[in-house]
Amino acid sequence: MKLVTYEQFGQPRFGAVVGENIVDLERASAALAAKTAAVRPLPAAIELFLAQSSVLDASARAVVQAAAAGQLDVFLTPLADAVLLPPVPRPSKIICVARNYAEHAREAGLQISEIPILFARFASTQIGQDAAISVPSVSHQLDWEGELAVVLGAGSNGRRIGKAEAMDLVYGYTIFNDVTVRDYQFRVTQYTAGKNFRHSGPCGPWLVTRDEIDNPHKLQIVTRINGVEKQSANTDTMIFDIPTILEHIADFIDLEPGDLIPTGTPAGVGFKRNPPEFLKDGDVVEVEITGLGILRNPVRNEEKL
Ligand code: MG
Repeated sequence: MKLVTYEQFGQPRFGAVVGENIVDLERASAALAAKTAAVRPLPAAIELFLAQSSVLDASARAVVQAAAAGQLDVFLTPLADAVLLPPVPRPSKIICVARNYAEHAREAGLQISEIPILFARFASTQIGQDAAISVPSVSHQLDWEGELAVVLGAGSNGRRIGKAEAMDLVYGYTIFNDVTVRDYQFRVTQYTAGKNFRHSGPCGPWLVTRDEIDNPHKLQIVTRINGVEKQSANTDTMIFDIPTILEHIADFIDLEPGDLIPTGTPAGVGFKRNPPEFLKDGDVVEVEITGLGILRNPVRNEEKL
């Protein structure tokens, strides 16, 4: 399944992609549940769905199946007309992994760490498909970082999760562009400012459930700026794999449903190019990952947004 959060009449709605359409999962599930006892009504927000994903997943799939069979047409919106928001607009945590590809650590002139290097992002930095990344008025050092992101589902409330059980917590995957303001990142020793500028966290276009991805450690990540390839690497070159990252995070904080974990960017970012390259007004950034689609965002000066 491909799950989305989209805007309708100014409100966020929770849906699933069905062919060229989005089905409204809350409204369609209510209609289907009235006829079919096996289907449960689904919530209006994906965060509430993920909190109960183990019991609600089958109902979402039943809605998608009925919609594909033409039984729920009144609950469809054409995908092409929809404004997509970040798939999980308000995750309780966004924990990012830094320096998780050796080539990227090398290009940045940084050491490879013995344990994952983590930093926090705030949910409000997120933007969805086609929304503009903003060039801040205080800096022009705006850089791209295409990344595979993990989304956790129900059951993700344990501490000290072992590697063997870690993948059970994963509900799906999405694409994250960990857009970074380099001078604000490196002028001090903490990443918080440089990684949390307004409109700097493109995510989407959708959440793809885990069953559709055979091996998350065998996916190609490609980042293009104005159609020119800047990053291309396979997730099999990650230093810390997903179970290792989750086990490490669970050493110190409870993993929760809806948590979003961007797993690090490969080589090819802008600031260590010769000469350095940064995003500017008018650019278009695309991050493509095998099986997850293409996350596309224009770049605009902050004054225009
Ligand atoms: Mg990153």
